[in-house]
Amino acid sequence: MSAQPDAYFEALDRALLHAQAWLASLPSRPVGPRVDADTLAALSAGPLPPAPTSAADVIDELASFAEPGLMAMPSGRFFGWVIGGTLPAALAADWLVTAWDQNAGMRFATPATAVLEETAAGWLLDLLGLPPGADVGFTTGATMANFVGLAAGRQWVLEQAGWDLDRHGLTGAPRVRVLVGAERHDVIDLTLRYLGLGAPIVVDVDDEGRLRPDALAELLDAGGSGPTIVCLQAGNVHSGASDPMGAAIDVARRHGAWVHVDGAFGLWAAASPRFRDQLNGLEGADSWATDAHKTLNVPYDCGVAIVSRPEVVRRVFGVHTSYLIAADATNEHRGPGDPFEKVPELSRRARGVPVWAALRSLGRTGTIALVDGLAANAQALADGLRAIPGVEVLNQVVFTQVCVSFGSDDRTRLVTEQLIADGSAWMSGSRWHDRDILRISVSNWSTDAADVALSLAAVARACAAVNAEGAAHAAAGTVRDATPVTPPHPATDDRA
Ligand SMILES: *Cc1c(COP(=O)(O)O)cnc(C)c1O
Repeated sequence: MSAQPDAYFEALDRALLHAQAWLASLPSRPVGPRVDADTLAALSAGPLPPAPTSAADVIDELASFAEPGLMAMPSGRFFGWVIGGTLPAALAADWLVTAWDQNAGMRFATPATAVLEETAAGWLLDLLGLPPGADVGFTTGATMANFVGLAAGRQWVLEQAGWDLDRHGLTGAPRVRVLVGAERHDVIDLTLRYLGLGAPIVVDVDDEGRLRPDALAELLDAGGSGPTIVCLQAGNVHSGASDPMGAAIDVARRHGAWVHVDGAFGLWAAASPRFRDQLNGLEGADSWATDAHKTLNVPYDCGVAIVSRPEVVRRVFGVHTSYLIAADATNEHRGPGDPFEKVPELSRRARGVPVWAALRSLGRTGTIALVDGLAANAQALADGLRAIPGVEVLNQVVFTQVCVSFGSDDRTRLVTEQLIADGSAWMSGSRWHDRDILRISVSNWSTDAADVALSLAAVARACAAVNAEGAAHAAAGTVRDATPVTPPHPATDDRA
């Protein structure tokens, strides 16, 4: 089949129409999907069609099949897990990345995307107040960005201990101890499993989930010396609070530790003069992970791995084969380096380009306004929720996260169920400090005062419905139990 340009055009035109219909539906469609995966699976079951179908017809079929099973995650009234929407410039740039179809690993081969990503990297370091010479890699998300930072840390602490990891692997290596706060995100444990480092040593936290530097010091003193990584958190998914960076990093430094920061959404506090104080001392760490698909509102997927020592991360992820033409073969770890030396993937899409477009469209003031706006909406939601009888806000609302209880665990679950069924806003159930809660994460650039008001009204309606049902059951002398609901209330902590 020859690839005449217009072979693409009809399908792309249909895709544009379907994309526009989807975006236009966001303000009015119910936030949740209208059908579940099993229902859709039953509809789609069937063998692979024997004959070809035109690209345009495939796109039509795809869009109409998917429509009822899509969740309005880009809606301004979506507050579930920690999930951002999409800025217009970032969405359109992502389309171009797909059309360009660059395998973005080598500077030499794809100079345009490499330089756009380098530019975006420089802007990010500047906005977040991180060392200008740090290496920045664009990963699929914060999970892999954490993996990159912790992999660099593992390499470095073992080197310091005189162990050649590349040659000998972990077998027989000195044990690397990794210390983390008790309320870290679960993917930290996952990445430690990827790295063969086993379970971390857990450090006590305060009421808002912040690691206690005194507890860290006690554990480090008790554990003697040896290769050590301390993993801190900027942005607790429940409270939004951050570990005390300066104090914890000082303690870690006294023990020669590598310090990594998981700041999937919370690192963005550093971009705002209003919130920067919450992360004082942040720049003293060795590596940082964040997401662009959360706070920055680029489309899925994009995480950012930042490592202060380029030579370390490039030793871990560099690949040296004859057919890859390195950017600076004579000058191994200097200069910007190749994109493939900074992330686990060799071949990848230019996912840093939508970051460039998002930042280019926002500028400095727009980025600050984005961060401040999310936090202001979280504050407005918390204030509005406190005004509803029977609602308790459980965290200090210091950033974008709000946790509420509606009384007993049962009542909280019932209200959550009602709210999800109502469909005008989405918030997720979770468990925090041994209580069932409803958790709000304000992560969407487009959330406005009207969205906040509609969402508060939806919560108030859900409470009223639960009250009315409770009264009816009381009159009839029966008890209404909360049915187990998934996904709003998973069995374990929900930490997305
Ligand atoms: C979302 C999140 C992660 C995981 O990030 P992904 O982008 O889903 O891979 C890790 N840590 C924290 C604090 C998060 O909020």
